[in-house]
Amino acid sequence: MSIVTIERKVLEKNDALAASNRQMFARHRLLALNIVSSPGAGKTTLLEATIDRLKHHVRIAVVEGDVQTDIDAQRVARYGVPVVQIVTNGGCHLEAGLVAAAVDRLDLDAVDLLLIENVGNLVCPANFDLGEAMKVVVLSTTEGADKPLKYPAMFRRASVLIINKVDLLPYIDADVGTIRRYARQINPKLLVFETSATTGAGIPEWCDWLLSTLTAGHA
Ligand code: MG
Ligand code: ZN
Repeated sequence: MSIVTIERKVLEKNDALAASNRQMFARHRLLALNIVSSPGAGKTTLLEATIDRLKHHVRIAVVEGDVQTDIDAQRVARYGVPVVQIVTNGGCHLEAGLVAAAVDRLDLDAVDLLLIENVGNLVCPANFDLGEAMKVVVLSTTEGADKPLKYPAMFRRASVLIINKVDLLPYIDADVGTIRRYARQINPKLLVFETSATTGAGIPEWCDWLLSTLTAGHA
């Protein structure tokens, strides 16, 4: 019983900090996305492809959440955008307070799009609001179609689903129709993109949507 109480207090504190992040992001007129997935779904490769395509059109900054290393932050930094690394030292999710401390190192007036790569985990990141405008869940075709049914909270709270690694479909026993059906069963409002961050398939559609969302927000 006490465990439940402590957990609720942690979440209440996080929600207050997330609300303050959300106000800060609105004040700076930036779009913040919380990008979540299992380990290895391709979040960092998707970020690289997205930044490569959009960096001359919008001002992008990245917050990288990782359990132990700054390998992903180094990969993203090669594209010449500001990156702040959060190392959670074993922690399995980002929290709003960590994101607040990270963005404190950025000039938010010079940012239109803030991409927050969460720790690879589909469970508790669903419960920790970071103050983002939307959660984007990345699911690789190799993970199996039943992920949305197994981790419904994450798919319910996400606004966008990116089905990544579609280039591998010929080699595996998975089909995108089933993934879409299960995902929409959990969340009928999910916007779905199919991408291969390595071949570039679907990246233009995803980036066009990002640009139109940014334009709508600034109108
Ligand atoms: Mg990564
Ligand atoms: Zn966690």
